[in-house]
Amino acid sequence: MKELERLYGFYHTFLKGYPFACTPGCSTCCTRNVLATSLEMEFILSDPGAKTALVAALKGMDPDSFGHYRPNITINESARYYLRMEEPPSEGGEGQAPATSNPCPLLSPKGLCTIYERRPFSCRAMVSSARCREEGEAEMEPFILTINLVIQQIIEHLDQGGLYGNIWDLAAWMVDGTDRAHLRENQPLPGFLITPMERGRFMAFLRRLSRETGIEFPFFNTSP
Ligand code: SF4
Ligand code: SF4
Repeated sequence: MKELERLYGFYHTFLKGYPFACTPGCSTCCTRNVLATSLEMEFILSDPGAKTALVAALKGMDPDSFGHYRPNITINESARYYLRMEEPPSEGGEGQAPATSNPCPLLSPKGLCTIYERRPFSCRAMVSSARCREEGEAEMEPFILTINLVIQQIIEHLDQGGLYGNIWDLAAWMVDGTDRAHLRENQPLPGFLITPMERGRFMAFLRRLSRETGIEFPFFNTSP
């Protein structure tokens, strides 16, 4: 969990160089389709205030009729296919595009996240250079999209033995003890999906990440 916290802190510092339109109360991006690992859910539950907010939101909820997105493949599983130049299995059934864009139950009436300091990485990664409300969807430069994917892969790697899925299925499993049928087992890092054009910038990023978080990547030589 310490490594997770360091990664979150590192990402926060990394984003400081970019201008974003995101402001407190802007919450179009806060839907029920948030994906995370069980490690991130543990991080939420380890804070009494965040746990109370999560348990209250979960109360009376039936995850099976909640209409939220349920992935049928993890990020590292998907990356493994692409690195082998293979198409991942098509996303059928519950892995299809979100059936709902209803607001996240963790939003306050003022549009603020009630677990903000503990929110999972996929919420932290939702940034935009233009207001989504005006533009319809988030806008960010391609390198940030690459980094977002990379950090999700690293978090999944750190949480091997844990599970991946929608936070409401993770919460139902970890808080209420419901079955884990809609969750996937986390997988080790198979490598990163980097375009040749991004490689130099990416290696500099990875060196900085290793230096500042202490996380090492045995299959990458991150020395300058
Ligand atoms: S990503 Fe879009 S909706 Fe979310 S806070 Fe930023 S501007 Fe607002
Ligand atoms: S957990 Fe917080 S940041 Fe994430 S979608 Fe819900 S309200 Fe938004």
